[in-house]
Amino acid sequence: MAEPTSKPSAAERKRALEIVAELYRLYPDAKCSLDFTTPLELLVATILSAQCTDVLVNSVTPALFKKYRTSADYANAPLEELEQDIRKTGFYRSKAKHLKDAGQMLVERYGGDVPRTMSELTALPGVARKTANVVMGNAYGIVEGVVVDTHVGRLARRLGLTTSEDPVRVEQDLMALVPQKDWLPLSHMLIYHGRAVCQARRPLCEECTLVALCPTGQANLAAAPAPIPAKTSKKSRSAKD
Ligand code: SF4
Repeated sequence: MAEPTSKPSAAERKRALEIVAELYRLYPDAKCSLDFTTPLELLVATILSAQCTDVLVNSVTPALFKKYRTSADYANAPLEELEQDIRKTGFYRSKAKHLKDAGQMLVERYGGDVPRTMSELTALPGVARKTANVVMGNAYGIVEGVVVDTHVGRLARRLGLTTSEDPVRVEQDLMALVPQKDWLPLSHMLIYHGRAVCQARRPLCEECTLVALCPTGQANLAAAPAPIPAKTSKKSRSAKD
Protein backbone atom coordinates (compact mmCIF):
# COMPACT_ATOMS: atom_id res chain seq x y z
CA MET A 1 0.00 0.00 0.00
CA ALA A 2 1.15 3.58 -0.73
CA GLU A 3 2.91 5.60 1.96
CA PRO A 4 1.26 8.82 3.20
CA THR A 5 2.06 11.87 1.05
CA SER A 6 4.27 13.17 3.89
CA LYS A 7 4.60 12.58 7.63
CA PRO A 8 2.11 14.90 9.36
CA SER A 9 3.39 17.47 11.83
CA ALA A 10 2.06 17.77 15.37
CA ALA A 11 0.09 20.87 14.30
CA GLU A 12 -1.49 19.00 11.37
CA ARG A 13 -2.46 16.13 13.69
CA LYS A 14 -3.94 18.57 16.19
CA ARG A 15 -6.03 20.27 13.51
CA ALA A 16 -7.21 16.89 12.21
CA LEU A 17 -8.29 15.89 15.72
CA GLU A 18 -10.22 19.15 16.11
CA ILE A 19 -11.99 18.42 12.82
CA VAL A 20 -12.82 14.90 14.01
CA ALA A 21 -14.13 16.25 17.33
CA GLU A 22 -16.42 18.71 15.57
CA LEU A 23 -17.67 15.95 13.24
CA TYR A 24 -18.52 13.79 16.28
CA ARG A 25 -20.45 16.74 17.70
CA LEU A 26 -22.33 17.24 14.42
CA TYR A 27 -23.01 13.59 13.59
CA PRO A 28 -22.98 11.51 16.79
CA ASP A 29 -25.09 8.77 15.17
CA ALA A 30 -23.38 8.56 11.78
CA LYS A 31 -23.36 5.04 10.38
CA CYS A 32 -23.23 3.10 7.15
CA SER A 33 -26.12 4.26 4.94
CA LEU A 34 -26.51 0.97 3.09
CA ASP A 35 -29.20 -1.40 4.38
CA PHE A 36 -27.98 -4.94 5.14
CA THR A 37 -28.42 -7.77 7.62
CA THR A 38 -25.51 -10.07 6.66
CA PRO A 39 -21.91 -9.65 5.40
CA LEU A 40 -23.02 -10.98 1.99
CA GLU A 41 -25.80 -8.40 1.74
CA LEU A 42 -23.36 -5.62 2.63
CA LEU A 43 -20.83 -6.88 0.09
CA VAL A 44 -23.50 -6.91 -2.62
CA ALA A 45 -24.88 -3.49 -1.64
CA THR A 46 -21.39 -1.97 -1.64
CA ILE A 47 -20.59 -3.38 -5.08
CA LEU A 48 -23.88 -1.90 -6.31
CA SER A 49 -23.12 1.49 -4.73
CA ALA A 50 -20.34 2.30 -7.23
CA GLN A 51 -21.42 5.40 -9.20
CA CYS A 52 -24.84 5.22 -7.51
CA THR A 53 -26.44 6.75 -4.42
CA ASP A 54 -27.00 4.64 -1.31
CA VAL A 55 -30.68 5.63 -1.43
CA LEU A 56 -31.05 4.11 -4.87
CA VAL A 57 -29.16 0.97 -3.82
CA ASN A 58 -31.46 0.65 -0.79
CA SER A 59 -34.49 0.86 -3.08
CA VAL A 60 -33.24 -2.11 -5.11
CA THR A 61 -31.82 -4.42 -2.46
CA PRO A 62 -34.96 -5.50 -0.55
CA ALA A 63 -36.26 -7.45 -3.55
CA LEU A 64 -32.75 -8.52 -4.55
CA PHE A 65 -31.90 -9.91 -1.10
CA LYS A 66 -35.21 -11.75 -1.01
CA LYS A 67 -34.47 -13.42 -4.33
CA TYR A 68 -30.72 -14.04 -3.86
CA ARG A 69 -30.09 -15.33 -0.35
CA THR A 70 -26.72 -17.07 -0.71
CA SER A 71 -23.47 -16.71 -2.61
CA ALA A 72 -24.54 -19.72 -4.69
CA ASP A 73 -27.71 -17.87 -5.73
CA TYR A 74 -25.54 -15.14 -7.33
CA ALA A 75 -23.15 -17.71 -8.81
CA ASN A 76 -25.99 -19.69 -10.39
CA ALA A 77 -28.09 -16.74 -11.56
CA PRO A 78 -28.58 -16.31 -15.31
CA LEU A 79 -26.51 -13.20 -16.05
CA GLU A 80 -29.23 -11.39 -17.99
CA GLU A 81 -31.74 -11.92 -15.20
CA LEU A 82 -29.31 -10.60 -12.59
CA GLU A 83 -28.62 -7.59 -14.84
CA GLN A 84 -32.31 -6.74 -14.92
CA ASP A 85 -32.62 -7.17 -11.15
CA ILE A 86 -29.96 -4.50 -10.51
CA ARG A 87 -30.50 -2.39 -13.62
CA LYS A 88 -31.62 0.73 -11.71
CA THR A 89 -28.22 1.07 -10.02
CA GLY A 90 -26.44 1.83 -13.33
CA PHE A 91 -23.42 0.10 -14.87
CA TYR A 92 -25.56 -2.97 -14.38
CA ARG A 93 -23.75 -5.20 -16.86
CA SER A 94 -20.37 -5.00 -15.15
CA LYS A 95 -21.95 -5.02 -11.68
CA ALA A 96 -23.97 -8.17 -12.48
CA LYS A 97 -20.84 -9.88 -13.77
CA HIS A 98 -18.95 -8.91 -10.63
CA LEU A 99 -21.76 -10.24 -8.41
CA LYS A 100 -21.95 -13.52 -10.28
CA ASP A 101 -18.17 -14.02 -10.38
CA ALA A 102 -17.79 -12.99 -6.74
CA GLY A 103 -20.57 -15.44 -5.78
CA GLN A 104 -18.70 -18.16 -7.65
CA MET A 105 -15.42 -17.38 -5.88
CA LEU A 106 -17.11 -17.25 -2.48
CA VAL A 107 -18.60 -20.69 -3.08
CA GLU A 108 -15.38 -22.20 -4.39
CA ARG A 109 -12.95 -20.74 -1.86
CA TYR A 110 -14.90 -19.90 1.28
CA GLY A 111 -17.87 -22.26 1.40
CA GLY A 112 -20.14 -19.36 0.43
CA ASP A 113 -19.05 -17.13 3.32
CA VAL A 114 -17.64 -13.63 2.95
CA PRO A 115 -13.97 -13.59 4.08
CA ARG A 116 -12.69 -11.18 6.72
CA THR A 117 -9.29 -10.11 5.46
CA MET A 118 -8.25 -7.30 3.14
CA SER A 119 -6.26 -9.57 0.84
CA GLU A 120 -9.08 -12.12 0.48
CA LEU A 121 -11.75 -9.47 -0.04
CA THR A 122 -9.78 -7.46 -2.59
CA ALA A 123 -9.18 -10.66 -4.57
CA LEU A 124 -12.94 -10.83 -5.25
CA PRO A 125 -14.21 -9.41 -8.57
CA GLY A 126 -15.43 -5.82 -8.23
CA VAL A 127 -13.92 -5.38 -4.76
CA ALA A 128 -11.22 -2.75 -4.14
CA ARG A 129 -10.00 -1.36 -0.81
CA LYS A 130 -13.05 0.89 -0.38
CA THR A 131 -15.52 -2.00 -0.56
CA ALA A 132 -13.28 -4.24 1.56
CA ASN A 133 -13.03 -1.53 4.25
CA VAL A 134 -16.83 -1.08 4.23
CA VAL A 135 -17.46 -4.82 4.65
CA MET A 136 -14.74 -5.45 7.22
CA GLY A 137 -15.61 -2.40 9.32
CA ASN A 138 -19.40 -2.55 9.23
CA ALA A 139 -20.09 -6.28 9.02
CA TYR A 140 -17.21 -7.65 11.10
CA GLY A 141 -15.98 -4.70 13.19
CA ILE A 142 -12.48 -5.12 11.76
CA VAL A 143 -10.97 -1.74 10.93
CA GLU A 144 -7.83 -1.78 8.81
CA GLY A 145 -8.29 1.44 6.89
CA VAL A 146 -10.52 4.40 6.08
CA VAL A 147 -13.34 4.08 3.56
CA VAL A 148 -12.56 6.62 0.84
CA ASP A 149 -15.48 7.27 -1.50
CA THR A 150 -16.05 10.44 -3.54
CA HIS A 151 -17.40 12.39 -0.51
CA VAL A 152 -14.49 11.40 1.73
CA GLY A 153 -11.90 12.18 -0.94
CA ARG A 154 -13.45 15.58 -1.73
CA LEU A 155 -13.81 16.62 1.91
CA ALA A 156 -10.34 15.39 2.86
CA ARG A 157 -8.88 17.60 0.12
CA ARG A 158 -11.03 20.62 0.95
CA LEU A 159 -10.20 20.30 4.63
CA GLY A 160 -6.50 20.16 3.79
CA LEU A 161 -6.07 16.63 5.17
CA THR A 162 -4.56 15.42 1.89
CA THR A 163 -3.52 16.85 -1.45
CA SER A 164 -3.96 13.61 -3.36
CA GLU A 165 -6.64 12.59 -5.86
CA ASP A 166 -5.67 8.93 -5.49
CA PRO A 167 -8.08 7.20 -3.04
CA VAL A 168 -5.38 4.86 -1.73
CA ARG A 169 -3.08 7.79 -0.95
CA VAL A 170 -5.97 9.78 0.58
CA GLU A 171 -6.63 6.80 2.83
CA GLN A 172 -2.97 6.66 3.87
CA ASP A 173 -2.94 10.39 4.64
CA LEU A 174 -6.07 10.10 6.80
CA MET A 175 -4.70 7.05 8.61
CA ALA A 176 -1.50 8.97 9.41
CA LEU A 177 -3.47 11.90 10.84
CA VAL A 178 -6.27 10.24 12.81
CA PRO A 179 -6.18 7.49 15.48
CA GLN A 180 -7.37 4.05 14.34
CA LYS A 181 -10.40 4.10 16.66
CA ASP A 182 -11.76 7.01 14.62
CA TRP A 183 -11.17 5.60 11.12
CA LEU A 184 -14.57 4.00 10.60
CA PRO A 185 -16.68 6.80 12.16
CA LEU A 186 -14.59 9.38 10.30
CA SER A 187 -15.63 8.07 6.92
CA HIS A 188 -19.30 7.91 7.96
CA MET A 189 -19.19 11.46 9.35
CA LEU A 190 -17.40 12.90 6.30
CA ILE A 191 -20.02 11.27 4.07
CA TYR A 192 -22.82 12.82 6.17
CA HIS A 193 -21.11 16.24 6.03
CA GLY A 194 -20.53 15.88 2.29
CA ARG A 195 -24.22 15.27 1.75
CA ALA A 196 -25.52 17.92 4.15
CA VAL A 197 -23.09 20.84 3.93
CA CYS A 198 -19.94 20.32 1.89
CA GLN A 199 -21.67 19.31 -1.31
CA ALA A 200 -19.64 18.76 -4.47
CA ARG A 201 -20.97 21.68 -6.50
CA ARG A 202 -21.68 24.21 -3.81
CA PRO A 203 -20.12 23.85 -0.37
CA LEU A 204 -22.09 25.86 2.18
CA CYS A 205 -18.99 27.32 3.83
CA GLU A 206 -20.88 30.27 5.31
CA GLU A 207 -22.99 27.79 7.32
CA CYS A 208 -20.25 25.26 8.07
CA THR A 209 -19.01 24.94 11.65
CA LEU A 210 -15.71 23.53 10.36
CA VAL A 211 -14.87 26.74 8.53
CA ALA A 212 -12.30 27.96 11.07
CA LEU A 213 -10.40 24.70 10.58
CA CYS A 214 -10.82 24.50 6.81
CA PRO A 215 -8.43 26.17 4.33
CA THR A 216 -10.93 25.88 1.47
CA GLY A 217 -13.69 27.40 3.57
CA GLN A 218 -11.40 30.27 4.58
CA ALA A 219 -10.49 30.89 0.94
CA ASN A 220 -14.11 30.69 -0.18
CA LEU A 221 -15.26 33.18 2.45
CA ALA A 222 -12.41 35.56 1.60
CA ALA A 223 -13.32 35.39 -2.10
CA ALA A 224 -17.05 35.88 -1.53
CA PRO A 225 -18.36 39.29 -2.67
CA ALA A 226 -18.72 41.77 0.15
CA PRO A 227 -22.32 42.16 1.35
CA ILE A 228 -24.13 45.08 -0.28
CA PRO A 229 -24.53 47.83 2.36
CA ALA A 230 -28.10 48.58 3.34
CA LYS A 231 -29.52 51.61 1.51
CA THR A 232 -29.07 54.72 3.61
CA SER A 233 -32.44 56.20 4.33
CA LYS A 234 -33.17 59.90 3.75
CA LYS A 235 -33.74 60.27 7.45
CA SER A 236 -30.42 58.83 8.51
CA ARG A 237 -28.63 60.74 5.75
CA SER A 238 -30.09 64.04 6.89
CA ALA A 239 -29.31 63.11 10.50
CA LYS A 240 -25.70 62.55 9.47
CA ASP A 241 -25.53 65.73 7.36
S1 SF4 B 1 -15.81 25.16 5.28
FE1 SF4 B 1 -16.66 24.80 3.23
S2 SF4 B 1 -15.15 23.57 2.15
FE2 SF4 B 1 -14.67 23.44 4.35
S3 SF4 B 1 -15.74 21.61 5.08
FE3 SF4 B 1 -17.09 23.32 5.41
S4 SF4 B 1 -18.40 23.43 3.58
FE4 SF4 B 1 -16.60 22.15 3.09
